[in-house]
Amino acid sequence: MAYEIVIGLETHVELSTKSKLFCSCGGHSEANEPNDCVCPACCGMPGMLPVVNKQAIELAVKAGLMLNCKINQYTTFDKKSYYYPDLPAAYQTTQWFNPICVEGLVDVETSIGISKIGIKQIHVEEDAGKLVHTNDSSLVDYNRTSVPLIEIVTKPDFRSAEEVISYLKTLKSKLQFAGISECEEGAMRCDINISVRPEGSDILGVRTEIKNMSSLTSIEEAINKEAIRHIDALERRTEVLVQETRRWDDVKKRTFPMRNKETAADYRYFPDPNVMPVVIDDKWLQEIKDSMPKTIDEQVERYMALGLSQREAAAIVSEPILIELLDDMVSKDIDVKAAAGWILTDYLGILKKNNIQAKDIALDGEKLAWIIKTAQSGEITRNTGKTVLSAVILENADPKTYCEQNNLMVKTDLDLIKKVVVKAIEANPKAVEDYKAGKEKALLAIFGFAMRELRGAGSPDLIRQILLESLAE
Ligand code: ADP
Ligand code: MG
Ligand code: ZN
Repeated sequence: MAYEIVIGLETHVELSTKSKLFCSCGGHSEANEPNDCVCPACCGMPGMLPVVNKQAIELAVKAGLMLNCKINQYTTFDKKSYYYPDLPAAYQTTQWFNPICVEGLVDVETSIGISKIGIKQIHVEEDAGKLVHTNDSSLVDYNRTSVPLIEIVTKPDFRSAEEVISYLKTLKSKLQFAGISECEEGAMRCDINISVRPEGSDILGVRTEIKNMSSLTSIEEAINKEAIRHIDALERRTEVLVQETRRWDDVKKRTFPMRNKETAADYRYFPDPNVMPVVIDDKWLQEIKDSMPKTIDEQVERYMALGLSQREAAAIVSEPILIELLDDMVSKDIDVKAAAGWILTDYLGILKKNNIQAKDIALDGEKLAWIIKTAQSGEITRNTGKTVLSAVILENADPKTYCEQNNLMVKTDLDLIKKVVVKAIEANPKAVEDYKAGKEKALLAIFGFAMRELRGAGSPDLIRQILLESLAE
């Protein structure tokens, strides 16, 4: 008989918050010594009063939005009671009755196409501490205790290890993209619930749960091995399948029973009377939505709405550093189209010519904005702007000071320009003669001379005007 594998995942990820879930202790990643990020609240001392970390709620909502979930705007915390030395309060605060996100959906791509994986729920909970076993004793480190996690629970929608692996990769990139979790190596841990059933059946088989898996290679091996064990049990009656928790042995390449699967009743789930319900009102929810990072397509659309061409928008969006630079200037009320031109042509041109990577120098949007605005108002010429930008990039110059010190502001001083024009006419008798004989182009030579005298910083309009007047006399 042909069998179908059915898998549901429960994935734990640590949220990128500054502090723990119910107190102001820093996350364990800030810890230097065991137990140096702890306080009475995270150590579960009697009488402590937990306060919910707002950032953890926001990140969990963002995770829900990334996974197309419904957000429960009224969400509560519950106690899950069990005893273990890494859990000082003898209960974990988690969400059982009103999890923060429910009913999501993620697209997962595999070699046979796109599968839709349902998300049953996402709930927020605290991590446990860490036990360190030495030869003659066991030590406990509470730095990780009460660090915020989300647990993402899927529906039993996976049909192969390939789908599971693809889901985990997609999940990781979504969570990292939205700044929800750094998903460091080993920090994404999942419990794999697996059963098999005759192909075509819509009844779920007896499932086992393989706990605490993090390496993708092991996850794939464990799923395939466990499925074979289930099928053998059904086909050849090698054993009787029971619902239980198992662990994967990476050396022996098989699963071993850990304990009978606990039921919810064993944990005595109970509303935690110390933690106030969290109400996410419409305004707050909208703020969280607005703070979600844009996808590439959304970014391109946003820039096109600001007046950029598709090509310009795509070029900016291809480099996060360029997005940052342009957005910095947009907030300074700049002509966005001109700014994109300066970034893509002048800025990138200077970098390329000098063999510098954008990420190696931090160009201050304010400085570039000053150059663009000053060039647009005619106080410096376009060419001068480019020279100044080079100095800003290569010498970290301040553009305004640089222009003043090098006498680069456009000269609009009439007397000065008249003097220079007289000098230019005297120095170019041949060109003057040609011009008067009807060769319009000869004017360029005289104009160029005058501009050079002013080190490129004369007002081109004024020079031209005075030059024409003088020649007409
Ligand atoms: P529990 O409360 O016992 O942990 P849940 O209903 O929350 O059970 O399910 C836990 C996970 O197990 C979910 O990801 C779910 O999709 C998956 N699951 C449930 N039943 C099965 C089954 N028969 N086969 C495979 N996965 C299952
Ligand atoms: Mg569960
Ligand atoms: Zn604490």
